[in-house]
Amino acid sequence: MASAFVGGPAFAKVVVSGAGPAGLLAARSILDHRPDVEVEVFEKRGDPRSEQISGFRAYSLGLNIRGRSALQHWPGLWERVAAKGVLSDKFFLHLGGFQLQLRANREGGVPTLLIGRNDLCAALLEDLQERHGSRLSLHFGEALKEVDLTSRRCLTSAGTAVRYDDLLGADGVNSAVRRAMAAAGFRSDAVDLPGQFKVWVGPCPSNLDPLAVHAMSSKGLTLFSIPRVDGRLCTILSWNDSPPSFLEDDDEAIAQHLQQDFPSFGAPALESVAQLRQQRPSKATTVRANRYHDLEGRALLLGDAAHSTGGTLGQGANSALTDAVVLDKLLQATTPEKSVVQDVGEEFSKLRQPEGLALWKLLQLPPKGLWALPYTAAQFAAGLLSRAVPMVASQPVQSLLSETTTPYTEIVSSSKFWLDKALVDAPGASSGEFESG
Ligand SMILES: Cc1cc2nc3c(=O)[nH]c(=O)nc-3n(C[C@H](O)[C@H](O)[C@H](O)COP(=O)(O)OP(=O)(O)OC[C@H]3O[C@@H](n4cnc5c(N)ncnc54)[C@H](O)[C@@H]3O)c2cc1C
Repeated sequence: MASAFVGGPAFAKVVVSGAGPAGLLAARSILDHRPDVEVEVFEKRGDPRSEQISGFRAYSLGLNIRGRSALQHWPGLWERVAAKGVLSDKFFLHLGGFQLQLRANREGGVPTLLIGRNDLCAALLEDLQERHGSRLSLHFGEALKEVDLTSRRCLTSAGTAVRYDDLLGADGVNSAVRRAMAAAGFRSDAVDLPGQFKVWVGPCPSNLDPLAVHAMSSKGLTLFSIPRVDGRLCTILSWNDSPPSFLEDDDEAIAQHLQQDFPSFGAPALESVAQLRQQRPSKATTVRANRYHDLEGRALLLGDAAHSTGGTLGQGANSALTDAVVLDKLLQATTPEKSVVQDVGEEFSKLRQPEGLALWKLLQLPPKGLWALPYTAAQFAAGLLSRAVPMVASQPVQSLLSETTTPYTEIVSSSKFWLDKALVDAPGASSGEFESG
């Protein structure tokens, strides 16, 4: 592909907005397949390699078989990422003073990789720099502020004007690229889910298994703790209504309050409480779009920028990495003729948009009201049956999501009965406006 600039640089320029898992892996993919391209990545926040300790981005997540298969698409990448996390399926639910083990590590199973989001990004970044340092420039702490798809120019938060030949919007739920994609026929929405959360990283209490996920609830609050490779726990404190008033207290009072509400966890270290206090609460957002590319503006959306279920299904990073694999396969199979988006954008939307929308539909489960209990009972029975007669019985939805690579669209088809009940209550579900277009 020739450079789009008359008298400009020899390389065509791909700008990537967002250095999360989707953006970093997509950058690698483009640099792998397009030797005549240079990539410029803009990331609103700091370098993940130096932002390890506190703040919202310190949260940990689980990469299941989908994320693992995606990373294994690139030789050696899974091993590199896995070295920064903990492999475990162990899950304990704490009820009062009791703990109930809901999941154990299965013999012959594919354990989940529990990893800090920043650690995942750090591994992808190291790999990217090692491979493509010479055609890559990284701008941390610099966001894309304005995006003009007509002139193919962006303005960054540092006031720099940047021209691009292709633009990848991998900039998460509040994507600046998605906001700019207002072309005829493009539709998207971003809806906040109820509730808020804060995150802290701290020592694992001595009475908790340091290699397991722990969940506990009390008085409208939930603690969800995930082990880290450094032996500490990443804990997410969430609530559904207004923020708990004790979070306004001093650090010792907050620690005491948490100890009373969560005796299994005990009092968090004061250094952990300080992280809580200094943080603004975050919220989860769902994103839908009816297509992921804009041919005229040469823009492509990936990951949360295109489809988000707000972290609740445990699929966001897994599906973001899968987006990058699909992009990679398309680039590999296509003879470069025009720009990246012109060559593969349409096919990318065709392959990924139905999957993104299917994920949003699955988020609407379980159905509410009268159907909630029968659904739970049916899922429980499916769990038992699929273990007893795996060749005959279908697995429950959560297992299909986290233990298989069954396309989300197939899970939607096989869950049609329950989804019909659940989608009745979901705003905008029946209009079909997000079916691909
Ligand atoms: C608490 C929590 C738990 C989760 N647990 C799981 C889990 O267990 N499993 C799972 O698969 N997923 C999980 N997720 C979801 C997962 O983190 C996301 O789906 C995943 O990170 C998406 O990757 P991404 O690269 O598309 O977007 P992001 O990771 O959101 O990265 C986007 C990046 O773009 C940057 N950015 C934003 N705007 C701009 C701009 N204008 N210019 C430049 N940069 C910009 C942001 O700073 C960010 O770094 C969880 C999410 C949360 C919040």
